[in-house]
Amino acid sequence: MSKQKIKFGSKEIVFDLEYQERKSLGITVYPDRSVAVKAPLDAAIEKIQEKVRKRAPWILKQQSYFLSFEPLTPPRKYISGESHLYLGRQYRLKIYDSEQDEVKLKRGFLEVYTSDKSKARKLVQDWYKKRAESKFPEIAEKWIVRFKKYGVEPSSLVIKWMDKRWGSCTPKGKIILNVELIKAPKGCIEYVVVHELCHLIHHNHSNAFFELQTKEMEDWKKWKERLERVLA
Ligand SMILES: [Zn+2]
Repeated sequence: MSKQKIKFGSKEIVFDLEYQERKSLGITVYPDRSVAVKAPLDAAIEKIQEKVRKRAPWILKQQSYFLSFEPLTPPRKYISGESHLYLGRQYRLKIYDSEQDEVKLKRGFLEVYTSDKSKARKLVQDWYKKRAESKFPEIAEKWIVRFKKYGVEPSSLVIKWMDKRWGSCTPKGKIILNVELIKAPKGCIEYVVVHELCHLIHHNHSNAFFELQTKEMEDWKKWKERLERVLA
């Protein structure tokens, strides 16, 4: 992966460029406003830059769209009163003094018990991971069963924190889901599961891939947008 940039009017667009076995150029703008470009192995850099420049208005629009959500999600300080998401719902954080470290979801509150307030962040992160490890396989199960008709099945389901990706599917069929998804509504998690399951059949984002994704989950676009909005 390499860092590239183009000029567009008075603006500059910086993007991460990655070459892949694929037929066309793919551009993604992430909620942190970074831009990733995936290009076919044999694409010339001038051609790539030209294409990115053509899509520049769209890229800038996406970036400002994500920027408009920024005030809603300031960096978390992990202090009482802050709101935190779990499965698409807001919970208010409450920190209690306690000998025993513990995190509990109770009547609209995310309760953190600890003798050391500076550990609140780590405790909440660990709690999210644990919840993800219990919820994701449950949510994925029905979809994994549905995809058996295509003769595919993930070799394993791994749940971990990832930067900039909701999920991925390795060539060996291992599906990886980002713990962060536990903050989103169930439909968003299902969308990522379906997306990765489709990759067991099509290892790219070809038309056939999207046809399959739409066939299995008609309203995936709605969930994708929701995901990008909720976790911006
Ligand atoms: Zn994909």
